[in-house]
Formats: sequence, structure tokens, C-alpha cells
Amino acid sequence: MTLDTVLDIQNLKKYFSISNGLFAKKTFVKAIDDVSFSVKKGETLSLVGESGCGKSTLAKLVNGLIQADNGKIIFKDRDLTHESERGWRPYRQPMQMIFQDPYASLSPKMKVKEIVAEPLKIHHPNMTKMEREKLVQETLYTCGIGYHHLDKHPHEFSGGQRQRIGIARALVLRPELLVLDEPVSALDVSVQAQILNLLKDLQEEFNLTYLFISHDLSVVEHISNNIAVMYLGDIVEIAAKKNLFEDPKHPYTQALLSSVPNIDPKVKRERIILSGEIPNAASPPEGCKFHTRCPLAMDICKKVRPHMQTLGDGGQVSCHLY
Ligand code: SF4
Repeated sequence: MTLDTVLDIQNLKKYFSISNGLFAKKTFVKAIDDVSFSVKKGETLSLVGESGCGKSTLAKLVNGLIQADNGKIIFKDRDLTHESERGWRPYRQPMQMIFQDPYASLSPKMKVKEIVAEPLKIHHPNMTKMEREKLVQETLYTCGIGYHHLDKHPHEFSGGQRQRIGIARALVLRPELLVLDEPVSALDVSVQAQILNLLKDLQEEFNLTYLFISHDLSVVEHISNNIAVMYLGDIVEIAAKKNLFEDPKHPYTQALLSSVPNIDPKVKRERIILSGEIPNAASPPEGCKFHTRCPLAMDICKKVRPHMQTLGDGGQVSCHLY
């Protein structure tokens, strides 16, 4: 962990027990299975993978919404892994979460100015009404919601505007880390670009650190410094964005990337169609969890789980080919 590391995740594990009846043997879904990564101040690490790979569980762990079974969650030198709800309280302000569907978390009866003022009332009870209103107006304006909208209710806004309000509600507390869980997945492509540009501008202006979760590599291309690819609860590759897009190492990353529309005509990518569905997380394949779908699978892949290796360019990959 270096001085400018904001978030350090070490060997994190989260298993959920499931049972198929009163007397049936319990089985465990390894939702997060020994995951490690870190994010430096002012940077964006994107977590990418198909639905069911564990991304959203990871977001909840990082925000203390659920407890880890093992490993460490270190936020700015403080180990928060086993903190109680009370112990987490001082970190609720600097660590904020943004969801895919802001509408679900915006109270329909409240005016926009009240929605954005609410976190200030909780975290800064001594702030005067005037100070609060000024900060709310400024923050909404910075997020692209003008003064004439302050008295409107959530249903009067478009999906993109509602996401701007969700971002303003997080930003009004001037956080250091934003965990963004599929923040643009519900939006049209043109609106996605506007929200991604807003997030990029805010990152620069407020020196924000982002953990950006998405199922779509093309969405994270613009905003990431580093990208971690997840498969069935594991991180299978972490690399700087440029390296990952130009020279993906893991066969799963190669397959994900082959379906991303190519902007650079010099880079030729052949479409790799993966056979089969993502396996059931309750009974993942032995050895490399990807071997049932991997076009390059070897005999060893069926028996031995590969370990994360650090490569010459600083990237990490978990695959027997390296
Ligand atoms: Fe494919 Fe084997 Fe590498 Fe897994 S370890 S990704 S099965 S080549």
C-alpha cells in the first residue's frame, strides 16, 4: 500500500450459504473468492464482468453494506473490514455510492433541493439553512441541474437528469471515493456519454477516486486508469487501460473485448463467441473456473486453479498460459 492509495482490498472473500430444504446439505456460493486490488487517489479502477460475476457484491462489501468473511477492506490506512455500523459512520461521508437506477432511491414526494440537502442534514447538522441551500444549489448546478429545477420532483426529470441528481446527492458531501455501480447502464448511449463526461470533469475538479462497476468494457474505456476483469467471483486480469485494450492477456478478457466496437481501425479484433452460459456460482467448475468456456483450455486447466501472476508490464493475470 502506497501513500496515495485510497482503497486497498486484500484477499477478500464473501460466501453465501444456500440450502435446498430443511435436511439438505448446505452449499456455498463463493460470490467473492480471494479478490485483491487497490485504487490510488484521483484514479479510476473499473471492475468489469458479466452479470452474476460478483461485481455488485463487491460494491456492497466496499461500502460496508454487507460483511466480508475474510480478507481486508482498507480505506485510507483504516481497516474497516470488521467495523460495526457505528464504526463505519465517520466513513459514510467520504465514501459514497451511486446506483444504476437513481429513481429507486429518490423519494418521489421530495423536491430536488430537499433530496440533495438530506445528506447534509445528517452529516452536517450544525450547518445553517442558508449555507446548506447555497451548497445544494452550487452542487446541482455543477452536475448540470439549473436553478429553475430546484422545486421539481424526480418524476419531472429524464433518466439522465435523475442520474445527475443522484450524483449531486453524493457529491454534496464532498466525498473522496465514489463507488459507481452500473451508473449509466439504464441510459441511452448518447446520454451515457454525457454522464461519463460529467463524471470525468467532476473527478478532475474534486480530485475524486472512482471504483466503477460495469458489465460493458466500452463504457469504462473513457473513464478508467486501470481495469479489473471479474469471472465467477475471481479477478482474472488487472491491467492499465491502454495495455488491456491493446493487448489483453486472459482469454476471457480477449472474448469480452472482441465484442466491443472498434474505434481504432489499425487494431484488428476477431470476434470470439464464448460457448455456453456462465456456470452456476454454487457449483463452479474445478481448476480454472473459465475452462468450460475457454477456447484455449488445456488438460491442466480442468484440475489446477491458476494463481495471479504479475507480468513485465505491471499487469496481473490468472491463467496457466502465463
Ligand atoms: Fe483458459 Fe486454461 Fe487460462 Fe483458464 S487457465 S483461462 S482455461 S487457458
